[in-house]
Amino acid sequence: MQDSWGRTIEYVRISLTEACNFCCPYCRPTEITPYSQEHLLTPDEWMTILGAFHRLGVRAVRLTGGEPLLYPHLNELLERISVSNWFEDISITTNGSYLASRANELHALGLDRVNISLDSLDEAVFDTCVGKSKQLPSVLAGIRSAIQTGFKQVKINTVLSRYWTDEEVRDVLSYIEQWPVVWRFIEYMPFQGSTFHGPSFDEWLSQLERILGEALQPLKDVYGFGPASYWALPSGKEIGLIFSMSHNYCDSCNRLRLTADGHMRVCLLRDDESDLIDLVRNGITVENLATYIEHVVQGKHKQHKGINMDTPGRPMWRIGG
Ligand code: SAM
Ligand code: SF4
Repeated sequence: MQDSWGRTIEYVRISLTEACNFCCPYCRPTEITPYSQEHLLTPDEWMTILGAFHRLGVRAVRLTGGEPLLYPHLNELLERISVSNWFEDISITTNGSYLASRANELHALGLDRVNISLDSLDEAVFDTCVGKSKQLPSVLAGIRSAIQTGFKQVKINTVLSRYWTDEEVRDVLSYIEQWPVVWRFIEYMPFQGSTFHGPSFDEWLSQLERILGEALQPLKDVYGFGPASYWALPSGKEIGLIFSMSHNYCDSCNRLRLTADGHMRVCLLRDDESDLIDLVRNGITVENLATYIEHVVQGKHKQHKGINMDTPGRPMWRIGG
């Protein structure tokens, strides 16, 4: 499916639940406790929506949230997506805390790739990053399981919502060298206003290059369906940089998002939404749903509003990252 700017839309990210066992302050304010799981879409409803995306030529699906491992029907949904053969790539983004005991079954059910969020390797700092104490060991166990399970790929996502000390950067560089993962650094997006201040693309690149004593080499490699640019460290190990505020990836935007309450969002950083679940619950056919989605996609804007965006109508945890 193409939008009116000639971009091919081939990737959907579906948020299975708003609930989360963590409370990362850049994602959800601490006063909001995890949401109830009462009004979730059923696997049947998701399959109707995904069937429409498949008809429109979407090739990849990512399961996210909230914390997608808290979606009570995850195994059933994953198996049904996998058996359908509609998508060439099925991936998940998780905080990793429940992954240690589930990585094997998720892999067996057809999950291809896993992204795990990890914002610090220091226990005390990690606690402030996730708004909860003593969580780092479970996340590290989840990462170890994911690596051992044999997924096609494991990525680590690190949001830079603050300036890092050189010592922290050296620590993470040593893990990057040791673990067989693709490590990506993500610029803070202003979903919680200007409370957080992380480095811009230029600041982060120059901190890395100063510590490494050499310039990083830009690579042509692309992993998955996302907007990251990849760079080679002096050792040859590759890292990804996603700086959606410093840079603008809108020209190559290939994605749509579905919220856990069944709304389609054509841009992460714009509030335009269409209610798909209402149509599904009123019995729309997959064909008509596909026609409707295609029509809505023609209204996708050329660019996001970026830092000029007013406070977004939905915080990150209600959109799905
Ligand atoms: N709970 C899962 C997790 O943390 O991986 C999946 C959902 S989370 C919303 C998806 C991704 O969005 C995570 O990598 C998280 O760090 C990132 N994220 C959340 N709020 C963000 C923000 N304001 N700016 C940049 N990334 C953010
Ligand atoms: Fe939960 Fe992920 Fe948001 Fe952190 S970033 S609060 S783990 S949904």
